[in-house]
This record gives sequence, structure tokens and C-alpha cells, in this order.
Amino acid sequence: MVYIRTGAAAPQSCPKEGVNVKKKLSVLLAALLLLAPTLTASSVEQVELNPNRMLYNPWNDMPADYVPADLVSLYATGITVSLASIRMDRQAASFAKAMFDDMVKDGITNYLVVSGYRSYETQQDLHRKKIQQYIASGYGEAEAEAIAKTVVAVPGTSEHQSGYAMDVSNTAQGGTLSGNVEKSEVGRWLRENAWRYGYTLRYPNDKTELTGIIYEPWHFRFVGAPHAQILYERGLCLEEYITLLKEEGRSILFTDGEGVTYEISYAETLPEADPLAGGVTAVAVAGEGSGYIVTRSHYNRLNTPLRWLSAGCAERCA
Ligand SMILES: [Zn+2]
Repeated sequence: MVYIRTGAAAPQSCPKEGVNVKKKLSVLLAALLLLAPTLTASSVEQVELNPNRMLYNPWNDMPADYVPADLVSLYATGITVSLASIRMDRQAASFAKAMFDDMVKDGITNYLVVSGYRSYETQQDLHRKKIQQYIASGYGEAEAEAIAKTVVAVPGTSEHQSGYAMDVSNTAQGGTLSGNVEKSEVGRWLRENAWRYGYTLRYPNDKTELTGIIYEPWHFRFVGAPHAQILYERGLCLEEYITLLKEEGRSILFTDGEGVTYEISYAETLPEADPLAGGVTAVAVAGEGSGYIVTRSHYNRLNTPLRWLSAGCAERCA
């Protein structure tokens, strides 16, 4: 098992030099076992399957008739949008609301969400128009198609159809999506802070070969905690994250700023719940048979990080 160290807060109790580490570990383990029965029954009886899917990309599509179950209006949520009809998944929308509220508190008030959920048909229209545009500017059909698919996702492969993605611009640019978003205050703030709300900059500048999509400083995807923070801190795109987790025997142990420790791993089938874990959630990687990203959260009543219990203090305190 490989543990990835992150910038999370250091544990409050690290044995000092000369302390019997083994003894301290066994005392803490005993304390943990005592605390275990206090975990709620529901958290140990079932694994919660997240309706979100980890991966939608040119190699992992979804059915043409797929429509997310719980779409809500961003406008009704209180988010500034270019069109009142823009919708997103309910949970993604509520985290987006918190994100934009904090952006406004930081003095950036001119953000504008210009796109959220898109149906297969809408994506088909956009894709077709993009091909026509390249043909009109002199490209042959095959070439036009090849370029178009890196700019506008092929229908069925767009994250927008999932309801978990949005495009953000600003009113100063009239809501257009261009490289200028990167230099704008909105773009900068989102790059630095979106992870705090479970969002990731999905198509980074240097990952086009892995994502299949050009750099899009405006496109943000909801993946939830703790994944968004790990992606941000490790500079990974989703494709790299999944590859890392799929490598045999690898799991990521991660403690967030709240002191909750997560163990994230890849599984081919839905796992059993772990009585020592505070909760087990799983999200499908892609379509059927593609496996799951499983997240076990560990915490105790004192809400202190447990990471070093597993990772070993030698590693943490070195
Ligand atoms: Zn987008």
C-alpha cells in the first residue's frame, strides 16, 4: 500500500523522540475499538453509491437518452447565470452556490455561469456546428471532425450531459468563453479555490493528451470531497487519478483540514461496509463493469486525524 502525503494539517499528537511508539499505537487502537460501536448503524450496514460517475471522456461515453435524475435551476438557487434555463445536479448546484457566495465575499462579483446541464441533442447541435465552422474556414471534413472533437465533446462524452459540469465566465467579457477567462479574477479565484467546494478544473493546460479536450479555464466539474482536494494538491486530472488508484495494491490515505481521514481505493465490485469506518461511499469509474472508486472515511469522537495510525509515525514524523 502506498500512502500519498498531502498538505493536510499535521496530527495533534505525534510521539516525541524516545516514546515507545508501539505502546502508544496499541493504546490508541484500543481507544478506537471502544469508540467504534458509537458509529451510526446506517454507516456500517451499507455502502452508499454516489449517483455521480467519475469519468466521462472521449473513451467513456453515456447513453444518448441519459438524463440526470435531479436537476435544479441555478437561477432559482441564486447563482448569476446568462440564461434562466441553466440547470445542474442538485448537490453540485448547492456546492456551486456556496462557492460563488464566497467569491462575492472576496469582492469578485462579476462571475457568470454560461452553461450547465446539456442534453445529448444540444451537444449534437454544438458539435455539428463546430465541424461546419472548420469546414467553412477551409478544412476537409475528416480534419474538421478531428479538431472539432477536441473543442466540443462528441455527443455522449460531454460532462455537461452528466449535470455535474459548468462553464464560468464573467460579465466583463459578455459571458464569452475564451482564454481570457484564465487571466480574469474569476478564473484565478476558481483555480485556487474551486477544490474547497468539490470542484476541479477538468481540462488543465498540460493534460490535453490525457483528457482528449483542449485547455478550458472555464470548465469546472463537481467530483466532491475529498477527490477535488487531492486532484488540486497533487496536480492530477481525473484520468491520472483513476490510473493511480487502479494500480494494484495502491490506495490513497488522506486527511482533510477537518481531521477526517479518507482511504480511497479502486475496486472491481462494490465492497462490503467496514465496521471500523465512519462511512463507505463508492462512485462508478465509468460505464458498466468499469469498477468503483471507494472512499472510506475514518474518524473518532475526538475528531483527531487517524492517518498516522495506519501510515506509521515514522513516515509522518520523519
Ligand atoms: Zn464546459
